[in-house]
Amino acid sequence: MTEPDYDCGLCPRLRGFILENRKLHPEWHNGPVPTWIPPEGAGSVELLVVGLAPGLRGANLTGRPFTGDFAGDLLYETLGAHGFASGTFEARRDDSLRLRRTAITNAVRCVPPQNKPVGAEINTCRKFLNGTITGMHNLRAIVTLGKISHDSTVRGLGGKLSAHSFGHQRETEIDGVRIFSSYHCSRYNTNTGRLTPEMFNAVFTDVARFLAT
Ligand code: SF4
Repeated sequence: MTEPDYDCGLCPRLRGFILENRKLHPEWHNGPVPTWIPPEGAGSVELLVVGLAPGLRGANLTGRPFTGDFAGDLLYETLGAHGFASGTFEARRDDSLRLRRTAITNAVRCVPPQNKPVGAEINTCRKFLNGTITGMHNLRAIVTLGKISHDSTVRGLGGKLSAHSFGHQRETEIDGVRIFSSYHCSRYNTNTGRLTPEMFNAVFTDVARFLAT
């Protein structure tokens, strides 16, 4: 599995933002956030969840995807409800939460200012997403959170966006990997009602059903 170096500087704007934050908050992670895999290793992964990018005071602070900001609350609760995680999520890297057959990563590994990566950054970081996917030999399903992560995943798998368009609770397949797309579980989407816990749960119900076959 390919992970960026802690000092990856392929995206100058993101590198500059991280260096600023290293000065301001030396105790934070402040680097590319690695893919979180289950204790059994990448070979045990059947489901990969792809988010957008680390949140400034979430994964960028803790160093673990979706850990420390609001989006993780709904994600980990839902994963646990479907058996894709066990233990207790306490928004800390050293909590007892463990992933089961599931890994979590981001389309862009470094925190972007205002949570908004630009196209060149998404394209540049795709090589790490591709490396993550190809290193999971038993991968059967991917959940993409939001359109940016969906489109980058489709492109990474060599698919055409016109044939695999994003939509909440939409499914498609590329090269034997089933892709389930979902609105991102961000605070903004849940506060505005664009994504309800029930809508999010429905996506993982589909995934669980698929993986049970
Ligand atoms: S976003 Fe990805 S490619 Fe860009 S600097 Fe960070 S790790 Fe490197």
